[in-house]
Amino acid sequence: MRSWTRAEVPSLVELGHGEGGLPSVHDVRADARVVLPPTAGGDRPTASMYTCGITPYDATHLGHAFTYLAFDTLTRVWLDAGVEVRTAMNSTDVDDPLLERAQRDGVDWRELAERQQELFRSDMEALRILPPDSWVAVTERIAPIAEAVERLLESGDAYRLGAPDAEGDDVLFDTTRARQFAVGAGSRTDAATMLELTREFGGEPDRPGKRSPLDPVLWRAARPGEPAWESPVGRGRPGWHVECTVIAMDELGAPFTVAAGGRDLRFPHQEMQGHHALALGAPLFSRARLNAGLVAYEGEKMSKSLGNLVLVSRLLEAGARPAAIRLALLDHHWRADWEWHDHELEAAEARLDRWVAWSTLPDDDPSLGESVVPWLRATLADDLNTPAALQAVDAFIERAPADEGSLAAIDALLGIDLCGGA
Ligand SMILES: [Zn+2]
Repeated sequence: MRSWTRAEVPSLVELGHGEGGLPSVHDVRADARVVLPPTAGGDRPTASMYTCGITPYDATHLGHAFTYLAFDTLTRVWLDAGVEVRTAMNSTDVDDPLLERAQRDGVDWRELAERQQELFRSDMEALRILPPDSWVAVTERIAPIAEAVERLLESGDAYRLGAPDAEGDDVLFDTTRARQFAVGAGSRTDAATMLELTREFGGEPDRPGKRSPLDPVLWRAARPGEPAWESPVGRGRPGWHVECTVIAMDELGAPFTVAAGGRDLRFPHQEMQGHHALALGAPLFSRARLNAGLVAYEGEKMSKSLGNLVLVSRLLEAGARPAAIRLALLDHHWRADWEWHDHELEAAEARLDRWVAWSTLPDDDPSLGESVVPWLRATLADDLNTPAALQAVDAFIERAPADEGSLAAIDALLGIDLCGGA
């Protein structure tokens, strides 16, 4: 489906700064820092990234924005390093939470999804987050997902399970057949935690007839009042994990470079995607798995049920500058869990004022030749250390005038266009 307008990314090469280096980032599965993409001698490096998208019913809170900004930063660092980048993302536009919300509010689920996707587009565009090359709604890929489920049934990696309230059988993934399930998969998730997370994410571990309590639904048979599609595996709709597996493999091939998402997706969502892919014959789903930290609000988990979501659109309506929201989020390390406090935005607005004031000071002596480019490149290549990058700019503007290269680097790498009225 349509994504959103891409912000310009200036080229530092064209300004005579050469290319940046490849970043080293923390891979959850290896539980180690890895250089991405892995270097292949001689050729121009390529990287592909699949990011788990929103379920369009509570877009876009700061937790979403923080996650997508983390992977936007990675994309920008790759582009600066001359990497050819291809990205894809889904939108879970048919799923239980969305359907429940639509029913509660008395609106059509399709309308709710479209409205929230539109809001997400405008928020992402305002924040200058680069759009994915493909943004795919699950409802656009029902047939290939059903076909993958059929293949999993044929290979014995899936089984049918009767559901009393449904027209036909659900299809579940058999995790007892999965190689190295969770253990050794770098998620360091123990059995009790896996069970608890399965329950929390609606995986019904106690459902009678399951081969393992952890087995997720691949295909949910039609229930009264729920949307459903005809398919070779029966009338129904896709399960959550398999949709991402199929969309990622269709768009990027497997293995692709990075599977990206918030830390709350580590289990079961990302773990199951990887196993679905292996069962579908991929040698590996992704080379690395990256998880962004979670954002709480003044001491509590940010959630719709607690009524404490901080929405990007609300902050913008209240007059916050998008670049200030960006700076407030970039001031936290992408892997850290942290709490949003309202004063963060004030501090970011003040920082943005200082940067804008600096950007308009004339560079009386360009021959000095110093620029912030190497500082930004060094901090960001070091596990995308954006807080250190912001401090590097703070320190730089105290001692040097604004030069073209620095302004372009702040735009290209941090997404802050000081000259374009940030
Ligand atoms: Zn996903």
